[in-house]
Amino acid sequence: MDTGLEHRSIIPNNRSHEMMYLPINLNINKSYQTVDITRNADTCKLKHIVFNSDIIQSISEFKNLLNEAIFELTLDNEIIAKYNFSFLMELNEVKKVGNRFAIKIPHDHTIDEIILIALARAPLKLNLHITNISVISAINLYIDYIYYDREQRVQFDDNVHNILIQDIQECGILNVENNKTHYKLNLHDNSHRTKGYFIEGDISKIKSFCIRMNGYDRFDEYDQMAMQLYCHHISDNLIYFSYTGQNNYKDMTLDSYTGSPDHSRLDTIVMLFKFDENINIESQFKIYSVSLKYLHYSFKFGRCVYVPTSGILKGWIIEKKELDESRDNMCSISHMPIETEYCTCLTCNNNFDHKSLANWISSDHPSCPMCRCFWKNNIKYVRDIIDTIHVDEL
Ligand SMILES: [Zn+2]
Repeated sequence: MDTGLEHRSIIPNNRSHEMMYLPINLNINKSYQTVDITRNADTCKLKHIVFNSDIIQSISEFKNLLNEAIFELTLDNEIIAKYNFSFLMELNEVKKVGNRFAIKIPHDHTIDEIILIALARAPLKLNLHITNISVISAINLYIDYIYYDREQRVQFDDNVHNILIQDIQECGILNVENNKTHYKLNLHDNSHRTKGYFIEGDISKIKSFCIRMNGYDRFDEYDQMAMQLYCHHISDNLIYFSYTGQNNYKDMTLDSYTGSPDHSRLDTIVMLFKFDENINIESQFKIYSVSLKYLHYSFKFGRCVYVPTSGILKGWIIEKKELDESRDNMCSISHMPIETEYCTCLTCNNNFDHKSLANWISSDHPSCPMCRCFWKNNIKYVRDIIDTIHVDEL
């Protein structure tokens, strides 16, 4: 079951799509190719990158060409997604039609739709770091621009959005050396919550692996049987290991992070590998973490930043906003009418007394008391009640 969209309450049902093939201008003198994706649409979703080449014949040749290439998406010059093409080409099969090759961008289970309407003037850019670009005759980005009804657009126009995303980040590279089959690899994983790791490389040569945190083994080492039973085999060169026992890395709900370690309390995360004796020297293994982050859109400052969190929202952003009087404004936690400070669920639009809700979500209920969706709107709305009284008195 793909629950990717369910918790993203601001994605309404009425939408029209415009699939576009955005050409990327190639400049062989530059170390990377870039394209500005910013458009007048409300949101967008990156789907595929399609390469044309008259020189490259087979998928394996194509994979070799892009083995070192990097995909980088930036918002206001800050990197919001970065993938090695080698990883993308293992995660999803490369499709070939004639002399064209397509690579899927995994936005369905990572950052999903990007809210262009909330970006103000912040540019959204795709940078492709590809050496050997001369054998490519054209690159097109297949992108889905999405337009909403007016009513739903008003929702986007709110000042601040905090969107739950999954971040996939390279956190370690292991180079196999001569005469060595045992390795210790320090993981550079600075995310608060990581629910699992992808391991990319010649998987058949791994005899066992284990993760050690602050000197303690987190679990018994995974031998080939345990890997077979408990890891998700995506391809011969890619497996997914989960801390939580749930191998569906595409599940973006907060529940899928239950049982994931809080890395902010750890000094060292080490991965221990034992390889088969006949492993190729010069082979390489790459580790990628799958972690929980927020993409924080702040319209006021035209800034979009990552806010790493441990799952439950910390800190509140204060906004002045009158209550929507067309709704029943009894707080269903306190059973009292809402006074000055309140919060709004982005999914069901119910309002709650701020203090009651803050208590509710900090006591291990990170979800809305009414609709049970993951709580992600960390804005404390303050009613403009004092001004109203002042006007009445006049
Ligand atoms: Zn709700």
